[in-house]
Amino acid sequence: MITPNMHYADLKESYLFYHIAQKTNAYLEANPEKHLFRMGIGDVSLPLCDAVIKALHEAVDDQAEKARFHGYMPECGAPFLREIIQDHYHKQGIDLTYEEVFVSSGASDELGDILDLFDKSSSAMVIEPAYPAYVDANVIAGRGIIHLASGKENGFLPEPDEEAKADLIYICSPNNPTGAVFDKAKLQRWVDFANANGSVILFDAAYEAFIEDDSLPHSIFEMEGAKTCAIEICSLSKTAGFTGTRLGYTVIPKDLVRNGMCFNEMWVRNRTTKTNGVSYIIQKGGAAVFTEEGQRQIRENIQVYKNNAKTLMEALDQLGIWYCGGKNAPYIWLQCPKGLGSWEFFDYLLQEIQVVGTPGEGFGACGEGYFRFSTFGSPEDTQEAAKRLVQLLEK
Ligand code: PLP
Repeated sequence: MITPNMHYADLKESYLFYHIAQKTNAYLEANPEKHLFRMGIGDVSLPLCDAVIKALHEAVDDQAEKARFHGYMPECGAPFLREIIQDHYHKQGIDLTYEEVFVSSGASDELGDILDLFDKSSSAMVIEPAYPAYVDANVIAGRGIIHLASGKENGFLPEPDEEAKADLIYICSPNNPTGAVFDKAKLQRWVDFANANGSVILFDAAYEAFIEDDSLPHSIFEMEGAKTCAIEICSLSKTAGFTGTRLGYTVIPKDLVRNGMCFNEMWVRNRTTKTNGVSYIIQKGGAAVFTEEGQRQIRENIQVYKNNAKTLMEALDQLGIWYCGGKNAPYIWLQCPKGLGSWEFFDYLLQEIQVVGTPGEGFGACGEGYFRFSTFGSPEDTQEAAKRLVQLLEK
């Protein structure tokens, strides 16, 4: 009889969003006349920008013409898109070859698949609170996990610790759920730590487009020595509203080598075995994001979410509630007022003002006592939620 991967039995029940849905559904059943203000969603609410839509339409038309039709695409990404992304990095002062850029179907797929590159015996460090997929993907692979807790005292941006070493180190900056962003000096210390220990950093840059402070790094490759210790995983999901369209990119430098094995070459081998590339149409749509027009249009959309963040931050400032994030990230991470626990605060907001957020405890034990607001909702709902929050908590 076949033996299943028994590590699936080690996964903790993925209760966070399920539990939120259960509670909100029960509330709506009991109060069908009420409208909920959903500040918990991690999905975008604005449609794709015009430049992308136009490119997608043109690409569909290409597929109707024998002369312009595309079949299988190169497994690692179409050269036209790899070069455009290479140029995007170049504009930020980061020199890569286009072969160091891989086109993907999004960051989630990559975060799971990339683990193929590392031995099962290697350990993984997850800075918590964290995006739940980091832990779950490693549990499925049967890998030991080192949970590095962060907190208010270090602004949820912990320093490397000589007592807590790992082969793989996950860094997400700007962070989901805390919205905290590593500055260059702090990120450099993680790069130095990884190089000194032979570790590899998996840098999740899914929210880099939300950085507005010029001094903060958008990419780990802005750090000296990062090319010998880091892989960067990026996505157009939040940058350009591609959550349902699916496109991302991953950078694996050729200088990233361990035990004589070049991770870039290994990933080429992996992709050519496990994928047949991302759809031509979607890659054409993705390319439009990097045009002048595309960049201007996605910035307009990002600005809508940033205005939502401003609305929520003003309300929290008025209430004197501690929070981080919001300015350079689409998430605001706040300390629950009145000493409430994460789920207690969730219930309180739902019952009293019909505002739905995400309890911090769902992102790791050290998230207890904290709460996440997303800024991806509609401006109208965000403004009403902020108003209700002030009215409720000012009492
Ligand atoms: N990484 C982080 C930190 C995220 O928050 C998300 C999505 O919410 C992802 C990766 C997944 O992004 P994608 O839509 O590209 O799979």
